[in-house]
Amino acid sequence: MSDQIKVDRDRIQKEFFKLTTFDAESFHEKEIAAYVKEKLKSLGLQVQEDSAGEKIAKEHPESKETASNIYAYLKGTKPGKPILFSSHLDTVKPGIGKKAILHEDGIITSDGTTVLGADDVSGLTSILEALTVIQEKNLEHPDLEILITVAEEPYCEGSRFVEYERLKAKEGYVLDLDGAVGRAANAAPSILSTKIEIDGKAAHAGFAPEQGINALSIAADALSHIRTGRVYNDLTVNFGTIHGGTGRNIVPEHLEINGEIRGLEHEKALCEAELIKEVFEKAAKKYGGKITFTVTEHIHSYHVSKDKPVVKRFLKVAGERMRCSKPECITTYGGSDANRLNEHGIETIVLSCAMEKSHSTEEYAALYELERSAQLTLGLMTE
Ligand SMILES: [Zn+2]
Repeated sequence: MSDQIKVDRDRIQKEFFKLTTFDAESFHEKEIAAYVKEKLKSLGLQVQEDSAGEKIAKEHPESKETASNIYAYLKGTKPGKPILFSSHLDTVKPGIGKKAILHEDGIITSDGTTVLGADDVSGLTSILEALTVIQEKNLEHPDLEILITVAEEPYCEGSRFVEYERLKAKEGYVLDLDGAVGRAANAAPSILSTKIEIDGKAAHAGFAPEQGINALSIAADALSHIRTGRVYNDLTVNFGTIHGGTGRNIVPEHLEINGEIRGLEHEKALCEAELIKEVFEKAAKKYGGKITFTVTEHIHSYHVSKDKPVVKRFLKVAGERMRCSKPECITTYGGSDANRLNEHGIETIVLSCAMEKSHSTEEYAALYELERSAQLTLGLMTE
């Protein structure tokens, strides 16, 4: 790294702290979006946005402050195919009133009452710092496209509305992964959610239980025949919530079970959903009830093989230029905007970018890792 143009640690720290001051829970990204747009413009990029905000507002009435996805473009100063870099604006809850605290050991945490927001402020900071250094030092680079999305956390809702025809790049990096810098996910699962509504028949539990059809018995029967957890080494099944019943003394008439399936092979995940549906149908038939089964496909699985240029460039920059001890590609069981980008023909991997324990109030980022993430991003932009 010694002969490389360096990113600026103080500036990174300042930017990270600034970005964490915005309250930006999913569907409330207006303020941070305005800030990031101005920042990108000030760095000389052409900035546009789509109409995701309006579309999301229609589908999610609870969202009053939703912004739209941001597209920024920096014309190349050397030949080469365009490359896309992406991160997202929103955080999970609790994310209101975040206060970043830098500790003596260089670790940044929240005050313990909220998430820190390193997911995905770390990614945003890395991209902004790399672009700043490129402009400041006049570094050569190919065409760069930046895609900053809204509402990534709720199953990548925001990127559902990305206008993919605006993007010219055929390869990209999403900065949105836990773990040490030098790690990238080149495979991620399809995520399907399942909703099972069970209808039986209410009856007095003491006077006439024979006249009832117990929705809970149907559920118990079905669930006893369904494997959950890591069902195969590339597929997981979970039932996360169950609601139903109206009273202690009433045979439960209605029950709703919500779950999800994650599978590295899309078709296999769909088959598993079908299998679950059949088991519930069989149980409902046995008791004389009925079920309504709804499966929603949120994101599609991908696997970018290691011989693809997008992976090779990452391994080269992380390994040779950054001297990461062990740059590696992993399979993640989390979804990200990379799922959608791959689905739309943009070969994309997800980079670890200095966030740890994300989605918890123990979330933290190491300043040293933030610096490395920005350095890696700069390397990928200018390689
Ligand atoms: Zn994220």
